[in-house]
Amino acid sequence: MIRYKYNLIVDIQKQVEALRIRRWLRENNVTYIPPNPWETLKLICNRPKIDYQCEDDIDCYWISGGNGGSYYLPNRITVCPREKSHTVEEIIKHEITHLKHESEVQDMTHQEKEAYIIGHEKSAK
Ligand SMILES: [Zn+2]
Repeated sequence: MIRYKYNLIVDIQKQVEALRIRRWLRENNVTYIPPNPWETLKLICNRPKIDYQCEDDIDCYWISGGNGGSYYLPNRITVCPREKSHTVEEIIKHEITHLKHESEVQDMTHQEKEAYIIGHEKSAK
C-alpha cells in the first residue's frame, strides 16, 4: 500500500537538493518549482486528497517545492502538488514505475529513461 506522508525535514531537504541541481533540471526540461514558505504552510495544513493505492509498499512524501516528482530506492517517492502539467495521481504512478524499472535503466541518459518509463506506463494501462 501507499503511505501518504508529510515531513518538514524531507520537504526542506528536497527543496535544497532541487535548488542545487536546478541547472540540470532546466537542461533536462524538468520544471523547477521554487521554494515558497506560504506554499509550505498551505501543504502542512491541507494535503492533497487522494485515495489511489497499489500493491507495493511505497512511502509517498508530499513536498511543497523543488520538482514535480522524484523516486528514491527502494520505496520512497516525493510528489509536489504545485506541478501543474500532471495530476498528483499521474505523478505517483510515474514515480512508482521508475522504482520498479530502475535496474533496467541504469546506463541510460535522463531522456532515454523517461522514454523507457513512459513506454512501460502505456503498456500497463
Ligand atoms: Zn520520470
